[in-house]
Amino acid sequence: MDCLFCKIINKEIPSNVVYENDDVLAFYDIAPQAPVHVVIIPKQHIASPAHITAENCDIAGKMFLAASEIAKKLELEKGYRIVSNCGEDGGQTVQHLHFHLLAKRSLAWPPG
Ligand code: AMP
Ligand code: ZN
Repeated sequence: MDCLFCKIINKEIPSNVVYENDDVLAFYDIAPQAPVHVVIIPKQHIASPAHITAENCDIAGKMFLAASEIAKKLELEKGYRIVSNCGEDGGQTVQHLHFHLLAKRSLAWPPG
């Protein structure tokens, strides 16, 4: 499958891994939008948040657990933001479900 994040999972494309278990992989974003910018992905290919179903939704909890563990590991005690872009209007550019974990700067709200 021609999916960038599946290629990162399969180590066909290198990444700077922060966290990994049987279900989830997290790596530093190549174009960071904050001093800490980690991408958290499921190892199974799910195209976007819109492709979450009753059958595969357990992975969402595992992705949030990964975020919480990464935040502890990177000492993000001041806080962080988790973003999941979905579809064209959401600004999604890679069609494999992911969370952005952004931290170490004050983040505006609303995001614009
Ligand atoms: P999105 O625009 O929400 O789909 O997010 C995709 C993210 O993947 C962007 O923040 C990109 O900078 C990031 N990205 C693209 N290619 C790579 C790569 N090879 N390694 C790490 N992050 C990447
Ligand atoms: Zn994929």
